[in-house]
Amino acid sequence: MTLEDLGWSDLFAAHFAPWAEQGLVPARVVAQKGLTQVSTGEAEHYAELAGKLRREVELPGGGAGYPAIGDWVALRPPTGDGRALIHAVLPRKSKFSRKVAGNRTDEQVVAANIDTIFLVSGLDADFNPRRIERYLTAAWDSGARPVVVLNKVDKCEDPDGCLLEAQAVTMGVPVHRVSAKHALGVEELEPYLGRGQTVGLLGSSGVGKSTLINRLLGREAQRTGNVREGDDRGRHTTTHRELFVAPGGALLLDTPGLREIQLWEGDQGIESAFPDIEELAERCRFNDCRHQGEPGCAVEEAVAKGELAAERLESYRKLQKEQRQLQIKQDEIARIREKQRTKAIHRAQRVFKPRT
Ligand code: GDP
Ligand code: ZN
Repeated sequence: MTLEDLGWSDLFAAHFAPWAEQGLVPARVVAQKGLTQVSTGEAEHYAELAGKLRREVELPGGGAGYPAIGDWVALRPPTGDGRALIHAVLPRKSKFSRKVAGNRTDEQVVAANIDTIFLVSGLDADFNPRRIERYLTAAWDSGARPVVVLNKVDKCEDPDGCLLEAQAVTMGVPVHRVSAKHALGVEELEPYLGRGQTVGLLGSSGVGKSTLINRLLGREAQRTGNVREGDDRGRHTTTHRELFVAPGGALLLDTPGLREIQLWEGDQGIESAFPDIEELAERCRFNDCRHQGEPGCAVEEAVAKGELAAERLESYRKLQKEQRQLQIKQDEIARIREKQRTKAIHRAQRVFKPRT
């Protein structure tokens, strides 16, 4: 395998140049399960963070600096039996992040440098355009190109109706109907699966991501969930690999972190996912209109006139509310950190104060 097969490009090469001078080699993180596994194309190694990088990422707010699956890193290959050392994470082309569980609202990148993200949704009883909308927001935030994959088309009584419903929220993003299980329509995905292209899979448990991966790989690489009697929800099973090379040369990335993605900061995603509402909002009387009963609200007027679906406004509000709450939490954490810092400075000043 060459670096290009792994997704290497001129962009990464440019970022890597200064590290090459120090005798380091580029490598890509291919698994991140407690241990970091990297590939240089020629060899795979387990890798640890070099001391300086470790200290940086352990600082408050340094969480995004940890290498994630898909990252390109500057690596000191192992000598003898030792581990390889990661000296730097190269700037990312795209990234999916999530809130770190618990109280700390620190960013944790769960997957990096994805070119195309398949937003997989099941056309069974679980079909839910609102959920697609939410995933789409996360996708726009990431920098990866989103593609909506409506799986289980064999289960759908009205595939055209479902397509229209999906298109009402996807705003021009490509939508494909497939059946991973029965090999229907899967060839439509080929244009995204070129050599060295990194494709991530996002979607709720049971929509058929593992089945789709197996289909695209042409082998049983991922274990799929078993459907219980009368229940379309597959049981997610823990998997071993997280990055697979498809026959055409694409890199399929399926990691538990992506499966559990939550929304992260930034209104950018909301705006790209709701261009219709943002456009209407420009005609609201107040600049900071929240479209919740303010006078002269063009958005609510459009709903009243039947020009905008009430549910669409509802999911927009919900997303905004979640992002506001996250913002408040982040501000709070920033405040606490600042306080700690000031305290530390005062302590240091006390120590150095000359005694009288
Ligand atoms: P994941 O949790 O997203 O990885 O979902 P799985 O790939 O494990 O699939 C969940 C269940 O849906 C399994 O029982 C699959 O056999 C089933 N499934 C996947 N794709 C299809 C499809 O195209 N049609 C039907 N009818 N079932 C499917
Ligand atoms: Zn308004």
